[in-house]
This record gives sequence, structure tokens and C-alpha cells, in this order.
Amino acid sequence: NTSYDRIEEVDDQVKAFLTLDKENALEQANELDNDTTDRQTSRLFGMPIGIKDNIVTMGLRTTCGSQFLRNFDDPLYNATVMNKLNAQKAVTIGKLNMDEFAMGSSNENSGFYPTRNPWNTDYVPGGSSGGSAASVAAGEVLFSLGSDTGGSIREPAAFCGVVGMKPTYGRVSRFGLVAFASSLDQIGPITRTVEDNARVLEVISGLDENDSTSADVEVPAFTESLTNDVKGLKIAVPKEYLGEGVSEEVKASIQQVLKVYESLGATWEEVSLPHSKYAISTYYIIASSEASANLARFDGVRYGVRSENATNMMDMFKLSRSEGFGDEVKRRIMLGTFALSSGYYDAYYKKAQKARTLIKNDFEAIFNDYDIVIGPTAPTPAFKIGEKTDDPLTMYASDIITIPVNLAGLPGISVPCGFSEEGLPFGLQIIGKHFDEGTIYRAAHAYE
Ligand code: GLN
Repeated sequence: NTSYDRIEEVDDQVKAFLTLDKENALEQANELDNDTTDRQTSRLFGMPIGIKDNIVTMGLRTTCGSQFLRNFDDPLYNATVMNKLNAQKAVTIGKLNMDEFAMGSSNENSGFYPTRNPWNTDYVPGGSSGGSAASVAAGEVLFSLGSDTGGSIREPAAFCGVVGMKPTYGRVSRFGLVAFASSLDQIGPITRTVEDNARVLEVISGLDENDSTSADVEVPAFTESLTNDVKGLKIAVPKEYLGEGVSEEVKASIQQVLKVYESLGATWEEVSLPHSKYAISTYYIIASSEASANLARFDGVRYGVRSENATNMMDMFKLSRSEGFGDEVKRRIMLGTFALSSGYYDAYYKKAQKARTLIKNDFEAIFNDYDIVIGPTAPTPAFKIGEKTDDPLTMYASDIITIPVNLAGLPGISVPCGFSEEGLPFGLQIIGKHFDEGTIYRAAHAYE
């Protein structure tokens, strides 16, 4: 009830939710009130949570922020992460707003309405998991799940002053996450504190026979790595992450962070990730190519809204897609289809795959000598609503420091590290080795 009261109080302004599930949630909460057995054993007993709307929830509308799916009210199964959260007795409050099909960095591509930044509602909350970050920052839920393909958990977490983790690719099952770019997507937790984050990741991680890319790797007790001991930790600071386009305020916030780590006994050195400059172009070829294939399933036949204006089959496909998808989604489908077409495959897609390998190798070389890589999460704090909507390329640049992490499949977190002059939060990004979320949490908790 407290969650719904809070939502009633603030969601008119924040607009984090697309769908609420009040009746079910209250019923579940009542049951838990009378429950004496599970209270001890359930790790998320009674916690109010919100779920990004591209994660499939049985019987609860799942729109992916798209008008195409505005009537997808009754999904027939739960994503694996939902089953895991339910097993630990978390209570789902509702579904959270996002950029359509997770394509965007500001929530302005939502097919419904933009979510606003709770710190200042003239500003964007970031994206694409903007609703997930804003709902936690506004105190509407205790934690939320987001998804991150190129920064969509970390950038909104930074803009809203909360903690967001993109786990190692394969750590968390993607079964039931509506695919944007399958080789990059990961689900992860957005929380207020590092400790909560570690706790939720423990619950949602692990091998899943329904997702062949989920990894058969042991899930350590991440909460046990929160020792605050970072003595001797070796930190790499890529000069590319503090270069052109990064605001002076953001650079200064990272200098402060480094001082804190020094005082805690860690050491840092400047390094170079020379192929970072290719990350954005590489990402937009690969992500759009995968999206163009993944989104082919939205044809007006199986789910979603079918155009009423068609008189034959081809028109039904065409019109359903033209009417259902927004501009950004169409742009990505066209770009991806072009990059994959036979005459251009070698020039674009294949080349992008090669660049991806180089970016990955850059990180591998660094991780031979260092434990973590740090930098800002985003080049600037949150920007004003409407500021970048006319220019997709400047919008794409917001992810310049988060995208390389997805291309390399590495884990990365954003934790709050101060405020701009305007009172908007900054995020510190900590990147770790594959499946070494434990060290990231240790470093993040020591700083927090
Ligand atoms: N902003 C990036 C994009 O538009 C990343 C989105 C994401 O991580 N889902 O593709």
C-alpha cells in the first residue's frame, strides 16, 4: 500500500509506470502478511518492485513501450527472472516505462509518454530503462529490473542518482526479455544501494535451460564481497573516457573519486583503450542488424495491434508495422536491414564484428594488469527534455562510455558520485572482468 500511496503522490509528475497491478499486488501482500514460514527463508520477502516493460510478465500487460503492443494484456508465461523474484516473494507493483523496444537514451522514444527525472522534472531520466531508474529514485519501489544493450541500465541509473548493474553477458537469463540485440542484451537490477543491488543479482542470476546463452558459471554470494577492503586494488582509468565531449564537471567528479580510492589504499593509473573510438559506429551496426531480425516477429499476426486498414496479407504486414512502430524503431530496422543485405554485408556487418573483437581485446589487455576499469557513466549529467530529440546522433553519443562494455560482454555498474551545479546526479562507472561482479560490488560499496 505504501508503494501505491507514493505512486499516487508522485507518478503524475514522474510518469514512471505504464501499467499498475494493484489488485494482485495487494492480494499477494495480504497473503504474505499472514505468512509465517516464508518470512525467514525468502530473500526478497514482501519487497515492492517494478519491472521494465520489455520483461514478460504472465497475465500482466507487456508493451515494450510500443503502441504496437499496447493491447498485449495477457502474456502466457513469465520471464525466468520473474519466476526467480516470485520464488523469493517479491511483490510486483507494475510495469515501467521505457524507450520503445529499448531504443533510446532518454525515454523520449516511449510510444506512450516520456518519464521525467525525479530530481528535476524538466530533465530526462535517461534511457532506455528510464522508468526503472526514476521509480527507484522517486521512492515508488524498492528496486526495479532494467535491461542494458548499450547502457540502458547504467545511464538512467547515473541520471537518476541510483545504482544500476549490467551483469556479464550470460550471467542472467534472457528468457522472456523481448530481444532487441540478442548478443548485447542483459537484464540487471536498479537499486538505491550497492548492497541491495548485490542481493537482487544473486537472486536473478544463473544458468537457465531456456536460454542457451546463459552461462554455466557458479553464482557467488555477491553480498559477501562487500568487505570495504580495497587495499591494493589496481584501477585502470582509460584516457578515452575522460576525453572530448566529457563535461568538465564530470571529469572533476572522477578526479574526486580517484582521491577517495587512493585514501582507501587502492592505486590507479591512466591507460588507453585505443579502439573505443569505433564503439558507437560498431554498436549501431550490430545492434540495428540484430534488431532488424528480432523485430521481424511483429507482423500483426501473432501479437499486438493489427492494422484495420489492410485488405490483403502484404498490406497487413506493412500497415501494421508502419502504424505500430515509432520513428526510432523504423530507423533502426532500416539501418539493420541495409547493413545485412548481401551486397553490403562485408562492408558493414562483418567489419563491425571485427571492430567488436578489437574492442574486446583492448579490455583483455588491460585486465591482465588491473582489477577494475573506472570512468564516468555518461559524458554529461541528465539533459533537458526535448534537447536532443531532433538529432539522433547526439543522442547516440550519450552512450559512448557504456557501449564498449556491452560489446565486450563485460559487467559494469553505475553508482552515484556527486551532483552537478544544477543539482543533477553524476554516475561513476566501474567495469570488471567477465563474471567478476564481486570485485565491482566490493569497489562500489567501499566508495559509496
Ligand atoms: N541508447 C542505446 C540505444 O539506443 C542503448 C539502449 C539500450 O541499452 N537498450 O541503442
